[in-house]
Amino acid sequence: AVEIVDLHKSFGELQVLKGINASVKTGEVICIIGPSGSGKSTLLRCVNLLEQPNAGQVIVHGVDLTHRDVDIDAARRRLGMVFQSFNLFPHLSVLDNVTISQRKVLGRGRAEAEKIARNNLEKVGVGEKARAFPAQLSGGQQQRVAIARALSMDPQVMLFDEPTSALDPELVGEVLTVMRQLADEGMTMLVVTHEMQFAKEVADKVLFMDGGYVIEQGPAAQVIGAPQHERTKTFLRRVL
Ligand code: ATP
Ligand code: MG
Repeated sequence: AVEIVDLHKSFGELQVLKGINASVKTGEVICIIGPSGSGKSTLLRCVNLLEQPNAGQVIVHGVDLTHRDVDIDAARRRLGMVFQSFNLFPHLSVLDNVTISQRKVLGRGRAEAEKIARNNLEKVGVGEKARAFPAQLSGGQQQRVAIARALSMDPQVMLFDEPTSALDPELVGEVLTVMRQLADEGMTMLVVTHEMQFAKEVADKVLFMDGGYVIEQGPAAQVIGAPQHERTKTFLRRVL
């Protein structure tokens, strides 16, 4: 489970998160929607401490990651992150991309890391690409490798920041299918997305952000199907 409590983040004078409260139970999927600049990426980056929040708490499975005594590297390992821009290492093969952190961060031996990598590559449907290099893959395949890489670190929670936004339209489906499969298997997920259909079908909860605030949150049928706030309605009219 993830609990986000009164989270604040500023960059200099610019207040980006102005007191975010949200919770995701273990096995739940929350989709975060909202206009550009509303603070969605900053929220995810604060959840895995890529950004240090100015105030508030992020509690993952009972551990407050913002507590000063917490080992940040250990804490961050609980969370897998997938970015819009895949972020694979271009000079490494797919297999090496998926094993390098397992070996360097978790200290797994080569054989074990490769076994886990191959299982996860198989699971996301790119098992036959283990020896290829990122540039030889389509965007959808690269993103699925990035998901396999994150899964190979045994995360308790997966964070996705617009994982399909950089993809050609015909490649979006294959990545959403993998994410849907993960959700079905009970992975706890926070997903920033513009894919409203995915949010409607997969999310246990949808959270609409604007201007650094959570404007409304609740079941998808409520937030997307019957929004209460004018700002949510305006946003949905533009994206639906
Ligand atoms: P998008 O939909 O375009 O990805 P977003 O909701 O993810 O937008 P953020 O990337 O969280 O928005 O950015 C929110 C605000 O914070 C923006 O005004 C952005 O310019 C600012 N911001 C984000 N990161 C930084 C940073 N490292 N330094 C300064 N300002 C930043
Ligand atoms: Mg963003």
